[in-house]
Amino acid sequence: MLKVHSTETFGTQDWPGIRFLVFLQWCNFRCLYCQNPDTRNHNIWNEMQDETLIEMIQKEDVYFGDKWWVTVSGGEPLLQTKGLINFFTKLKKLGIHTALDTNASILNDDVKKLLEVTDLVIPDIKHINNARHEKITGNSNEEVLEFINYLEQIWKPFWVRYVLVPGYTDQLEYLDNMGKYLQNMKNLERLEILPYHNLWEYKWKELDRDYEMQDVKLPSKEELNKVKEILDKYIKNVYVRI
Ligand code: SF4
Repeated sequence: MLKVHSTETFGTQDWPGIRFLVFLQWCNFRCLYCQNPDTRNHNIWNEMQDETLIEMIQKEDVYFGDKWWVTVSGGEPLLQTKGLINFFTKLKKLGIHTALDTNASILNDDVKKLLEVTDLVIPDIKHINNARHEKITGNSNEEVLEFINYLEQIWKPFWVRYVLVPGYTDQLEYLDNMGKYLQNMKNLERLEILPYHNLWEYKWKELDRDYEMQDVKLPSKEELNKVKEILDKYIKNVYVRI
């Protein structure tokens, strides 16, 4: 059983392959530019049994063909680790590829068990500098880096996501530092740079919350290419998602 925010089928834009996406409720971060601020509400959710979700996934059979992929995102999935271990174990028995999109902030025995039934992990690095990470998310990045080190240690394939936010995450020295940190990781399959955008500002208004990023400009194509150039020096597969 999982506390679900929403589901989406046929997601090809942000995840590998054609995917069934499950967004879980709850998050322990407070990112300034959160695209799903409603998942941070700990009082409302949709309780769903694994079997109900699996039935929904199997109905998509016509789209998925023999390539079934499920990504769980959020919110923060690692806040529901026990439920996810059960869900992913059932998916694996059905031969379905499992991916976990996470802020990578928790590493305990349950999370380690969950990683055993996860095919691909997609951790975010919000910022490589701890003080700046705290400013953006309200949390330290020490656990995040520990989590990513663990993925490398257990040979788990992973993709890193990095949101480029002008004035917040575009400092060249820190991009260099992130490149150096990741450069020798053999299980890092790709690094994706996601340009910040403000399409979800309306969600903050609907929740009657102040959106602090109102004056932040969207990154230009030139800025994105410059960041890619820096990271290309260290990492093989760097992509910009437009
Ligand atoms: S980790 Fe994701 S869901 Fe949580 S606050 Fe940050 S952007 Fe929002």
